[in-house]
Amino acid sequence: MTDSDSTFDTEVYYDDDADRSQIDGKTVAVLGYGSQGHAHAQNLHDSGVDVIVGLRENSSSRAAAESDGLRVETPDVAAAEADVVSVLVPDTVQPAVYEAIEDGIEPGDTLQFAHGFNIHYNQIVPKEGVDVTMVAPKSPGHLVRRNYENDEGTPGLLAVYQDATGEAREEALAYAHAIGCTRAGVIETTFQEEVESDLFGEQAVLCGGVTSLVKHGYETLVDNGYSREMAYFECLNELKLIVDLMYEGGMGEMWDSVSDTAEYGGLVKGDEIVDDSVRENMEETLEAVQDGTFAREWIAENQAGRPSYTQLRDAEKNHDIEDVGEDLRALFAWGEGEEAEAAADEE
Ligand code: NAD
Ligand code: MG
Ligand code: MG
Ligand code: MG
Ligand code: MG
Repeated sequence: MTDSDSTFDTEVYYDDDADRSQIDGKTVAVLGYGSQGHAHAQNLHDSGVDVIVGLRENSSSRAAAESDGLRVETPDVAAAEADVVSVLVPDTVQPAVYEAIEDGIEPGDTLQFAHGFNIHYNQIVPKEGVDVTMVAPKSPGHLVRRNYENDEGTPGLLAVYQDATGEAREEALAYAHAIGCTRAGVIETTFQEEVESDLFGEQAVLCGGVTSLVKHGYETLVDNGYSREMAYFECLNELKLIVDLMYEGGMGEMWDSVSDTAEYGGLVKGDEIVDDSVRENMEETLEAVQDGTFAREWIAENQAGRPSYTQLRDAEKNHDIEDVGEDLRALFAWGEGEEAEAAADEE
């Protein structure tokens, strides 16, 4: 739990806070064997929890789950047998999968998620009497698995949406322990906070904001006669170095590491570029997340077969910066991946 002198806003749980008797001896159905599914299923299994993987009859993931030593059933069979059903299929297919498993979810069972979209926006309406929780590692699944195997943890989120048994939080915490999250620390949140902050973050800053900033910077240089290669390096490639410094030591470490000229220029110009109008746009983006406008748009887009999504994706792929970037990355093949390994082997 939070220590008294902690500066955290929320509870943070560690290994000692978890009571493993809340999950040991129970059967967990892990639906889906993708990024999160394979990691949860294998970590739970290695922690001694009884796991059934739920996959469609024709799923290409069946062979992988079986060769990892796990029992595989169809989602409805797995869910009916389980005490805890961990829903780790893609968010857009969860409502349909839920329809197929609903009959097997009984009072006292738990429906568990790693992202709250479908519960928060009422695309899945769980029955009364069922616990509804979230255990969401803050990391892609392959790291959740690798960290577990290396006796390390992966930070995670925990939330309780519906506590029918009075033990929903304890059970979720035990699950978080069994997949290795309490080794690193588990932060308590709510479904609403997790969903709204996640959608806002990926739209305004992480995925949408950053790529738009990069493209505008690139276009400004190229349109003013600078070379595409220089523009690519300056506006995209160097971003990694800056983000690595911020990740390691906050903005302070980044400011300390760049030149005084870069620091002064950045401090003066940053807020002129990303000005109050951008902040107003962010407020609107957040409002659309909060009032469900974005969720309705995304659900309708999927129901219509993703016409705008497909168009936007194509336009992004065809942006000039992607073209020049592909050529430059192949030329340099910096230090990673098969090309670099092959180059090293040849020497
Ligand atoms: P994924 O796309 O990697 O894997 C999906 C799996 O579901 C696949 O193994 C596939 O076999 C199975 N599947 C697909 N359609 C199916 C269907 N109709 N019926 C049954 N099975 C089906 O998914 P993911 O990225 O692991 O996401 C799972 C959940 O975890 C989502 O709620 C996501 O928001 C959440 N999450 C993901 C990450 C991440 O890093 N990927 C991080 C935190 C939370
Ligand atoms: Mg059941
Ligand atoms: Mg239960
Ligand atoms: Mg997200
Ligand atoms: Mg510079």
